[in-house]
Amino acid sequence: MKIQCIRTHHLRDHLDVPFGFSQWYYDTRNTLWVEIVAEDGTTGWGECYGPSEIYQSAINSFYAPRLLNQNALATDVLWHLMWRSSLDFARGGVMMGAMSGIDMALWDLRGKALGQSVSDLMGGRYADEIPCYATGMYFKEMPEADLISSIVAEASSYQQQGFQALKIKVGKNLAFDAKQIEALRDALPNMTMMADSNHAFDLPEAIQIGRILEENDFSWFEEPLSPEFEGQFRQLQDKLDIPIATGECEQTRYGFQRMLSTGGVQIAQPDLAYCGGPSEALKIRNLASSMGINVVPHCWGTMLNLASATHFIASGYREPGRKETPSPLLEYDRTPNALRDELFEVPVVVRDGIAQVPTGPGLGVIVNEEKMQSFVVNQTEIKA
Ligand SMILES: [Mg+2]
Repeated sequence: MKIQCIRTHHLRDHLDVPFGFSQWYYDTRNTLWVEIVAEDGTTGWGECYGPSEIYQSAINSFYAPRLLNQNALATDVLWHLMWRSSLDFARGGVMMGAMSGIDMALWDLRGKALGQSVSDLMGGRYADEIPCYATGMYFKEMPEADLISSIVAEASSYQQQGFQALKIKVGKNLAFDAKQIEALRDALPNMTMMADSNHAFDLPEAIQIGRILEENDFSWFEEPLSPEFEGQFRQLQDKLDIPIATGECEQTRYGFQRMLSTGGVQIAQPDLAYCGGPSEALKIRNLASSMGINVVPHCWGTMLNLASATHFIASGYREPGRKETPSPLLEYDRTPNALRDELFEVPVVVRDGIAQVPTGPGLGVIVNEEKMQSFVVNQTEIKA
């Protein structure tokens, strides 16, 4: 079954109220979707995490011409074709992000062609339901005391919706971070909570905030340090008991091998829309498994990436195995995003904080192509 056509769709939604984290503020949501059509009309959809305009150019002008007329079902062969054709100048970064969206679309296509879900293709499911953690509690432009009240109210709303776990942002400034961590623990004594600095801290700051997180019974400290300073992760872990999670800025089995071999990371977080796609995420998981490290994917964007992460978690063996094994948590972004919430005829269903693993073929979510048109910034198409 040959690839006949590759389309890209850059979609954008303007936010009513900007929100921010340690590095910048969002005032729009953007995504780049990849649509691959095989000669029999079977269509697969994928998503890239990052700068849509650059992804669109990388796919339309570089990767797509190389993929036309190739066997659409040969996901691993096509991955390595793309890898070899760009590795001299792009062993990672946005070219790998572009490959990730293509690879995701190819997995969706292969599942539809074979009548199997992506988790079936990945080896089967350990679970049909995955508990989610709510990602939110971003910063807003307001006085800090008001912001802490607003964050606590938002966190409480997730508890009322049935979530048993959530993740907050830290890295605004040390005094604010300490106050909000303590305020959240006071307000939600039984909630599982994680904190994410998005590589905002140097090593002494990360030790200081890490100890406050430990005192308040947080479950992991995410991206405490810059991904450039791999050796510091081990130094930080030697000072703290809280598990360290990182990896959303990392890509490929080679990158994760370097990061995980430091011994300073307990939870690896590749994003399937950036790390090299589902094909590479499986290799990263095998690598992590060989080191006794579990993978909990980073997930940001629309239902395409959420469905990919859901299938990936459902098919993952937790190290070490035991009869009563806890499920890894699925990251469920709760910040405003019409591209995630309004454009799917069949979404990933999340009820009471628990995601149902989609049962349809491929990713098991269906794009509403008519609604999609009202969010289009730019579309491309290249045909055999
Ligand atoms: Mg993060």
